Amino acid sequence: MTAQILDGLKIRDEIFVELKGEILKLSGQGIRPGLAAVLAGENPASQLYVKSKIAACEELGMASWLHTPPANVTTEYMLQLIKDLNEDDNVDGILVQLPLPGQIDSKKVLQAVDPAKDVDGFHPMSLGKLVSNRPGLVACTPAGCMEMLRRYKISIEGANAVVLGRSDIVGKPMALLLMHANATVTICHSKTRDIADVLRRADIVVAAMGKAGYVRADWIRPGAAVIDVGTNKVTDAAEAEKLLKNFPQRLEKFRAKGNVLIGDVHPDVLFTAGALSPVPGGVGPMTITMLMSNTVKAAKLRRGKSSVVAGQ
Ligand code: NAP
Repeated sequence: MTAQILDGLKIRDEIFVELKGEILKLSGQGIRPGLAAVLAGENPASQLYVKSKIAACEELGMASWLHTPPANVTTEYMLQLIKDLNEDDNVDGILVQLPLPGQIDSKKVLQAVDPAKDVDGFHPMSLGKLVSNRPGLVACTPAGCMEMLRRYKISIEGANAVVLGRSDIVGKPMALLLMHANATVTICHSKTRDIADVLRRADIVVAAMGKAGYVRADWIRPGAAVIDVGTNKVTDAAEAEKLLKNFPQRLEKFRAKGNVLIGDVHPDVLFTAGALSPVPGGVGPMTITMLMSNTVKAAKLRRGKSSVVAGQ
């Protein structure tokens, strides 16, 4: 069996078409949704992520602003910047790219974001709304995973869902979203015993642990839907050879480039799962898409426009 591929790029394109329509409608009412990104320091991966987020805003015709305080920025400076963005009526969404430099009190900074502009869904108010299943801004990666499941018509109600990982930004909100969609949810973490046994009962698996190829093909019930959130850069040749032994073309690419992106799920899961989100090209594009969707949603909610954009 080869799994159906849950194509994040295809869904992104679909949602972008929908969002463009929403944005056009808003512009007719004199509203241009806008996202302010704050990128402190010079982490190359963060720079790349923020660049893609700004590019997505431009593609959709939304306003965007990039603030780049230096690596030695203070918490006080960051708090003042967030205050200014909170007060700027043109800004609908505020994105603070994580991780922040070590000297910054990240929790304090995230908590300073106006919940109405919390397009990352990290504010305690947003989390509280999610816990009590009230409408609000939901963290982009888990919201993107849900959107994939829905758009590929994977049945969630009554399903046994297993979430691997319990981080505030992926695992916990993911588990809550699945529970609200009436799945029976099990959350696994580093202290969970017999993960393989737990997984073998799952109809839906969401892997968000940060361990390259950890979930083995024989742990997956044949036909289960598997969402792979992990993004792990593998540079070790022996590890790449082991993980990609059934994927000669990817292995060739690794040999040419010296690295390959591997999810938390072993690539061979493709041969057991019924549906699988690939890495790359699965959850990654969905995360940025949901950030755009959240920004449009925030613009509408903040400015008292009814109805909600794609998928949420
Ligand atoms: P995180 O904060 O490091 O959390 C990892 C979670 O996995 C923790 O809850 C940890 O358990 C659990 N875990 C670690 N080893 C485990 C094991 N052997 N068995 C079971 N659980 C284990 O990571 P995160 O921020 O949630 O991200 C997870 C992965 O998703 C990373 O690869 C990250 O790069 C990726 N990610 C991708 C996107 C995207 O857009 N594609 C977005 C966000 C994250 P404990 O709580 O017990 O330590």
